[in-house]
Amino acid sequence: MNDIMQIVKEQNIFTGMFDAIRMVDARSGTVYELKDGMLRQTEQKCMEALGSSERCRNCTSIRALYANEQIVKLEYVGGSVVLIISAPAHVDGKDVVLEIIKDITTSMTVEANEQVREDEVSNIIDKFNRLATVDQLTGLMNRRYITEKLPNILESGRKLEKPVSLAMFDIDFFKKINDSYGHQAGDAVLAKTGGILNSFIRRASDFAARYGGEEFMLCLPDTDLGNCREIAERIRKLVEETEISIGDNMLRITISAGVACSSELSELKQEALIELADKRLYAAKNSGRNRVV
Ligand code: GH3
Ligand code: MG
Ligand code: MG
Repeated sequence: MNDIMQIVKEQNIFTGMFDAIRMVDARSGTVYELKDGMLRQTEQKCMEALGSSERCRNCTSIRALYANEQIVKLEYVGGSVVLIISAPAHVDGKDVVLEIIKDITTSMTVEANEQVREDEVSNIIDKFNRLATVDQLTGLMNRRYITEKLPNILESGRKLEKPVSLAMFDIDFFKKINDSYGHQAGDAVLAKTGGILNSFIRRASDFAARYGGEEFMLCLPDTDLGNCREIAERIRKLVEETEISIGDNMLRITISAGVACSSELSELKQEALIELADKRLYAAKNSGRNRVV
């Protein structure tokens, strides 16, 4: 092992192999440089190297940090195919993610039975990246997206001194729908409810996600508790008023919600914010359902 490290140092063999090797603080996106074994913060943000001012939708550094394993992805950036490898590392007392980036547009070969057109490559990459973060049934973001995105959103909220609000929703007596009309009808109800939630997404920073079976989350950055409550109430009302056609039947369902805001927390952690919204969701259930607490 030492021999290899020596060779790497002397020959600097990686320099020519990749376009960039860097250390990233996964939560904030800050890029560090390593000098004499010490990390030094730079002015650069991780996404700037990919020509973007927003964190990637499918962020591998956050995933590498949480999963504690190497994550590889292809990203289509302004006409180029870029390979990114993210690996968790502990350097200079800090948990960082080591990232290796290479533009592989001209150097990659794809083994395929048929010729793949260039515009198809970008579609395929987009599809892969969507698969990792989108819930197939409802089209909303999935649980993994929540875990990976929420820390970033809370961190930028803290920096910009803006509140971040969450609403957690759970369909009332959903088991009865499965039991009375079958699992497929249940799925259709989930898809419809997801569509209603999605219709309340107005800004690029907001997102709606499927948290679990019949539980949903709405995340609203730069929104205080009162406004979040109002939006959750409008969703609750629209769900209550919407008729869902299942075969020959027209169904109506209701939904309960708990809302919470980062400004209520003593420690800005996603777990704490979700827990608070969840606690209120259960209070909504216990006080009669079909309401927002
Ligand atoms: P409550 O008002 O207390 O929320 O009652 P509930 O019947 O909704 O209770 P609970 O949350 O325990 O039930 C959730 C049910 O959702 C249980 C499970 O069978 C069903 N479920 C979870 N995921 C899916 C899914 O993907 N499709 C369908 N059809 N059903 C699902
Ligand atoms: Mg539930
Ligand atoms: Mg339920």
